Amino acid sequence: MILFKNTRIFDGSGAEPFPGDVLVQDNRIVAVSRTGAGGTSAPKATIVDGAGTTLMPGMTEAHAHLSWPSSVERFVPGMSLPPEDLALNTARNARILLDHGFTSASSGGALGKTLEITLKAEIDAGRTPGPRLVPASIEREPPNETAFLASGNVVEHGRGAEGVRAFVKECAAKGAKVVKFLLSGESALKPGASMQTLYSEEEMRAAGEQARESGVWLTGHAHCPDAIKMGLRNGFRVLYHCTYADDEAIDMLAARKAEIFVAPTIGIVQATLDATPPPHFDMSHMKADASAVLERQKKLAPELKRRGVRLLPGGDYGFPFNPNGRNARDLELFVRHLGFTATEALVAVTMRGGEIMGLEHELGRIEPRYLADLLLVRGDPTRDVTLLQDKQNLLAIMKDGRFHKAPVTPT
Ligand SMILES: [Zn+2]
Repeated sequence: MILFKNTRIFDGSGAEPFPGDVLVQDNRIVAVSRTGAGGTSAPKATIVDGAGTTLMPGMTEAHAHLSWPSSVERFVPGMSLPPEDLALNTARNARILLDHGFTSASSGGALGKTLEITLKAEIDAGRTPGPRLVPASIEREPPNETAFLASGNVVEHGRGAEGVRAFVKECAAKGAKVVKFLLSGESALKPGASMQTLYSEEEMRAAGEQARESGVWLTGHAHCPDAIKMGLRNGFRVLYHCTYADDEAIDMLAARKAEIFVAPTIGIVQATLDATPPPHFDMSHMKADASAVLERQKKLAPELKRRGVRLLPGGDYGFPFNPNGRNARDLELFVRHLGFTATEALVAVTMRGGEIMGLEHELGRIEPRYLADLLLVRGDPTRDVTLLQDKQNLLAIMKDGRFHKAPVTPT
C-alpha cells in the first residue's frame, strides 16, 4: 500500500484541486480523503509526503505514433529506419512517453503491421516500460528512401469494399485494437490533398461493418468536410484534425458527441511553424499550410468544445521537428490557441483520456476503484500547464499501482 499524504489533488473531473490523501492498494486507488475529514488510516502503507505538489491522474496521448522515429532523445532526419532499429526505437519511444507522464496512449497508426501489438504485449507483461496502449496496425506504407517525411501513401491494402474489409479483418486478426484510415489526404505533404477524400463511401461502409464484426475501432485522418462526414456516417470512433469541418460536419460531430473523440492535433501545426529546417529542406509550403490550419482551428475548436464534442490533446509527435516526448506541449497549445482553460486542458488529457482508452469509469480520475495511474507534480498545473513539459517536475510517475519513477523529494 502506498499513501500519498499532504498533497493537493486534481482529480481529473475539473473540480478545484483540494488538499488531501490518496491511498493505493495493488493497482487501484482505494481511498481519497480531504484534509480535515479524518484522514486515511493505513498503518502499513509506505508514505509519500506530497508537500508542495499536486497529485493528478496520468496523462493520455490521443494521437500517438510511437513508431515514428524522432524523440527528445534521438533525432532521426526522416521517417524510415531499418526494421531492427525501428523496433528498438519504438520501444524506447514508449518508455519516453511514460517518462514524460503519459501513462496511456491511443495509437494514431504504426510503421509496422504488428510492431505496436508486440510492444503492447511486452509492456503489459511488465518486460518493457511504456504506457497503456491501444495498438494500431500499419497506417501507411513506410516511405521510400528519398522521402524526408512520411509519404502519405495509403495503407497497403486492396481497393474496393472487399479489399478494405480484408484489411480490417487482417489487422484485427493480428491483434490491432484500432485501424487507421487516411480519410483525407494531407496538404502539408502534398499541396491540396487535405481537401481530397481518399476512399469511397462504399469502401468506408465496408470498413465500418467489418470493424463492428471484428471488434476493432476505426480512427481517421480527416481534414475536409466530406472526409469527416464519411467517418461519422461509418462509425469511426476517433477523428484527427477535422480542420475544415463545415456547419453540417459540426452538427454531425455534435450529434455523435457521446461516441466520437476528436484530436485537433495542434502540436505538429505549431512545431511546423516553429521549425528552422536545414537549408536543403524547403518547408515554406508546409509552413503556409500550418498557418492556415492554425487559423481555422482557433475558430473551430472553441465551437466544438461549446457543442460538447470531446477534444483531446495528441499532436502527431514523432516527426524530426516534433519529437516523441514533447507531447505535453499540446496542453499549452490548447490553452494558447484552442480556447481551453488550463483545467479544461487537464480534464481532456486525464478524464477524457480514460474514455478514449475505453476505460471510462476506471481510468483518468482520482477516485476510489480507479486504476492507480498517477503523477506527483511539483507545483500546480491547473495554474500553469507548461509545468508538465519538464519531466523534472514529475516527482513521481505511477502506472497500474507501481512506480515507473519513484518519488523524489521536491526541492
Ligand atoms: Zn498522425
